[in-house]
Amino acid sequence: MSLGEFDIIARYFSRKSTRGDVLLGVGDDAAVLDSRAGHKLVVAMDTIVEGVHFPAESDAADIGYRALAVNLSDLAAMGSEPAWMTLSLSLPRANEQWLGGFASGLFELANEYDVALVGGDTVRGPLVITIQVAGWVEADGWLTRSGARPGDLLFVSGIPGEAAAGLAVIQRRMLGGESAAFLQHRFLRPRPRIELGRQLRTVASAAMDVSDGLLTDLKKLCAASGVGARLNVDGLPESPAMHELFEAEDGLQYALAGGDDYELLFTLPAERAPAVLSTLQFQQRVTQIGVITAATGDDRPVQCLRDGQPFRIKRAGYDHFAAGDPG
Ligand code: ADP
Ligand code: MG
Repeated sequence: MSLGEFDIIARYFSRKSTRGDVLLGVGDDAAVLDSRAGHKLVVAMDTIVEGVHFPAESDAADIGYRALAVNLSDLAAMGSEPAWMTLSLSLPRANEQWLGGFASGLFELANEYDVALVGGDTVRGPLVITIQVAGWVEADGWLTRSGARPGDLLFVSGIPGEAAAGLAVIQRRMLGGESAAFLQHRFLRPRPRIELGRQLRTVASAAMDVSDGLLTDLKKLCAASGVGARLNVDGLPESPAMHELFEAEDGLQYALAGGDDYELLFTLPAERAPAVLSTLQFQQRVTQIGVITAATGDDRPVQCLRDGQPFRIKRAGYDHFAAGDPG
C-alpha cells in the first residue's frame, strides 16, 4: 500500500477515547480494558463483504457506519450497553479519500454510543470489514432467544422490509424522490435498537435482532425456545415510503423475507405486556405481530395467517450457504 499500514492506523484509527475503562488502546500489541463490577461482558462479531452485504461502489462513510451498526444491533438484542470494538480491515488499496470517509461513518456511530476502537488489524485483500464489539450487561439478566413460551405475545420494532426495499431502490437505480432516499437510508444506515434492548432487558422473555429476514429469524427464535409462532401478516406495520414505490405483494415479501432490518424481534408474557408497553420510551414504534404457540413438531414452526387464512410466501430469508430456492 502506498500509504503504509502504520500510517493508515495512525491517521484514521488511532482516536483517543474518553472512556475511563480503556487502560491501553490502539498502538501496543493488545488492548487492556477495565472490567465493571456487577456486570457481565457481552461479545459479538460481524463481517461485511463488498458485493455480498453491500453493493460495490457504496459510499465509504455508509460502509463504516453500517459495519458498526450491524454489530451494535447484536448487542441491542442482548440488552447490552456497548463499550468497545476492534476492527479488521481488508482493503484492495490504501485510498485516502475512502479511508477518510469510512472512518467518519464509523466514528459517527461509535461516538453516539461512546464505543472506543481499541485495536484491530489492517491487511491488503478484497474489501472485507470485520468488527468485534463488546459491551456490558447487568449481572441480573440479559436477553436471549431461548426464553419464549406458548402464550407470549410477539413484537417487532420499526418497520420490517424497509431496508430490503431500500436495497431494491439502489439495485434498480430508482433514484430521486423522498421515499426512495428514505428507503435507501434505511438500508445503508440501520439504527441499532440499543435503547429498546436496554429497556427490554429484564422484561422480555426472548429477543433477537432481525438481520436475515423476519420469518427466517423468527424460526430461529422458535427453535431456540422450543416453541412455535403464529404470525399475523395483516398486523405488520405499514411503510408509507414502501407503499408509494412498491406493489403491496412485493412489500410483503420484503417485510417477511427481506433481511437487513436490524430491528428487534421480542416476546412478552401476555399478562405483563400492557404494563411493559406503557412504560417503554419509544424511539421507534413497536408492533404486535403474532403470538407464541406450542411447538409444532415439524420443521414449520411459524404459521403465517392473512385474513385468518394460511399464507405462504414465495421466497424465504437470506442464507449464505443455501442452495437455490428453499421452496
Ligand atoms: P501486531 O503486529 O502486534 O498484531 P499491528 O502492527 O497489526 O500489531 O497493529 C498495531 C496496533 O494497531 C495494534 O494496537 C492494533 O490493535 C492496531 N490496529 C491495527 N489495525 C487496526 C485497525 N484497522 N483499527 C484499529 N486498530 C488497529
Ligand atoms: Mg504484536
